Amino acid sequence: MGREKYKLGIIGSGIMGSGIAITCALAGHRVYLNDISEEILNKSKSYITHILEYLHNIKWISIDPNEVLDNILFSLDVNNVVSNSKFVFEAATEKLDVKKKIFMQLKKYISNETILASNTSVIKIENISEDIDIRDRIIGVHWMNPPFILPLVELVHSQHTSEKVIRETRIFLEKELGKIVIESPDIPGFIVNRFAAAISSEAVRLVDEGVSIEDIDKVWKDHLGILYMLFGPFGNLDQIGLDTVYLAGLYLSQSLERNIMYIPRWFEEMVMRGEYGVKTGKGFYRYKEDPDKLYLKRIKKLSEVLRWLKDQRL
Ligand code: NAD
Repeated sequence: MGREKYKLGIIGSGIMGSGIAITCALAGHRVYLNDISEEILNKSKSYITHILEYLHNIKWISIDPNEVLDNILFSLDVNNVVSNSKFVFEAATEKLDVKKKIFMQLKKYISNETILASNTSVIKIENISEDIDIRDRIIGVHWMNPPFILPLVELVHSQHTSEKVIRETRIFLEKELGKIVIESPDIPGFIVNRFAAAISSEAVRLVDEGVSIEDIDKVWKDHLGILYMLFGPFGNLDQIGLDTVYLAGLYLSQSLERNIMYIPRWFEEMVMRGEYGVKTGKGFYRYKEDPDKLYLKRIKKLSEVLRWLKDQRL
């Protein structure tokens, strides 16, 4: 695959299908969008037109929106949409039976080279592709919303997806669309939505325990969101100190009915070996620099982001 421009099919023209169409058309590909009614397709067309004009106004794109729109076609005819497409991106309603039915139907119209990619947020690709005899060509491409702005894409393959399909999909996403591709195991919720579910359910539980919705959002926007954005969960644990995390985790597990802080055996063994993170030079990561120096670097990063955030919130 080089800088060839492809015909691409998209099934489902809701918020995600329309967004994926914008993303691919901006990269110069010819996109065919399908849905179940003319009315929905018309809605998608006005949404896409509006978004492209907005992206142009805020200077996110410099290309004339009409040129991009010329690359997007809307059709109720599935055959017309998917035949000879390099990729078909399925972005229909999040129901296993709906997705399975679509993939069964697509099988009739696609060429031998077409790759079928589901945008499911949580359903295992193994489940979507079972009973379909072309499951070697079925893969998960989980876009983030809005896909034309957010860079991350989760790539998920079942045990039947072929190496060629995985490779070609990754190349398309990275080289043609400039995406950051993370491969997730084929587990319910993948990576992004496992985190999202854990955070959302803890937020809802804290409301049950008397915390206000506004305060929960503040904790994320003014604190946790900043730390996790800069360092990620494991980078953060290393900075806190795994010995401290371990003790705090034990207390939480003993005082709450549910196992909120999961501490597997291997984590316990790291602590027993004295791998406490930044302060001992080894935790989830290795640190060559002195802990005091690393602390100053942390302050610098935080101060830069906080200064930027303050400007944004003025
Ligand atoms: P949506 O409701 O906005 O759009 C779904 C569209 O699919 C609708 O227009 C519906 O008419 C269409 N559809 C249903 N059955 C169809 C069929 N047989 N053929 C053609 N079209 C059909 O939903 P959405 O938010 O765009 O989500 C679509 C998919 O993307 C889901 O799997 C969802 O989990 C996933 N996703 C959503 C988000 C998000 O933030 N909304 C983010 C990532 C992934």
